[in-house]
Amino acid sequence: MAFSRLARLRVRMQEKGVDTLLVSSLPNIRYLSGFTGSHALMIVRQRRAVFVTDTRYATQSAREVHGVRRVVSRDSLMNAVHDHGLLDGCRIVGFESNQVTYAIYRELRRRFPSLRFVPTSDLVEGIAVVKEPAEIRILESAARISDEVFREILPMLRPGVMERDIAAEISYLHRRHGADGDAFEPIVASGERGSLPHARATSRMLRNREFVTLDFGCRVKGYHSDLTRTVGLGRVSQRQRQIYHAVLHAQEQAVRSARPNMAARDLDAVARNAIDKAGFGKYFTHSLGHGLGLHVHERPRISALSRDTLVAGNVITIEPGIYIPGHLGVRIEDDVLITADGSRRITQAPKELMVL
Ligand code: ZN
Ligand code: ZN
Repeated sequence: MAFSRLARLRVRMQEKGVDTLLVSSLPNIRYLSGFTGSHALMIVRQRRAVFVTDTRYATQSAREVHGVRRVVSRDSLMNAVHDHGLLDGCRIVGFESNQVTYAIYRELRRRFPSLRFVPTSDLVEGIAVVKEPAEIRILESAARISDEVFREILPMLRPGVMERDIAAEISYLHRRHGADGDAFEPIVASGERGSLPHARATSRMLRNREFVTLDFGCRVKGYHSDLTRTVGLGRVSQRQRQIYHAVLHAQEQAVRSARPNMAARDLDAVARNAIDKAGFGKYFTHSLGHGLGLHVHERPRISALSRDTLVAGNVITIEPGIYIPGHLGVRIEDDVLITADGSRRITQAPKELMVL
């Protein structure tokens, strides 16, 4: 597994003109080596790859990391790279530009003055966008847990309950069902707070005649789920119902349309046009979705400006919303696998309007 990933990465490195890649993103290190700890580096060259960690992870890394040389340092990782000559003979060393701080970049330049360091982006992420069957199974198990958590949280959604108590219960239930933790802090946004797409759960209490939006996910073996549902409390007005169905219709149309070889921006347009037609276009203020895997947000981007194309094996979210400032918000989100001939939902929680 690690071997074929490294082979594909090396092809991309050649295309980008780097003979060496310094990998410092932990999810990417996990993807390439199997290491699940919190401090490591990888140096990938055309003929070999070296994994570097510190002594706290000596035993764990021996168990998890196979097929690449392993260096366990008593010192800083950078000193180990230097002292073991791990960059000897390299010329153009790519680093992950969204990981390496300016301070680390300066240190690299100072310690290895004869090398050229060049920023790269999405080299590992670019091969990780196509999920292998084993990865899809893990993503499906994370999705199943979040589906179940949604089912179990419903009885708690009643007037007088605080948003943050619901968020705490979601986190607890994820763990109870075997997840390693939350994918991100659960969003619980009720009433007018629903119009803030990334609202944090607060001490606000749920009220009748309002919507509450729950956006949450969990982490299983490093992979994530990401699910959003909006439900009504007590009674919902005709207008609330109309807004809900505009989002639901757009979301379902996008899920049905998603297929390989489709431009991601065309998929965004499917949902955007549907919401436009319903008369709420200006209230759909974010992109339609994102890739999902070892990162909660990864390629492909599903937005009006995306240049990505969908391919079989992508796992993406489809999450249109309507946000009427100071009034209400509705969002519905599923995780979707792009298959050989279309797409398949991997989150399956019910979506018809629930009024509790
Ligand atoms: Zn979400
Ligand atoms: Zn999302």
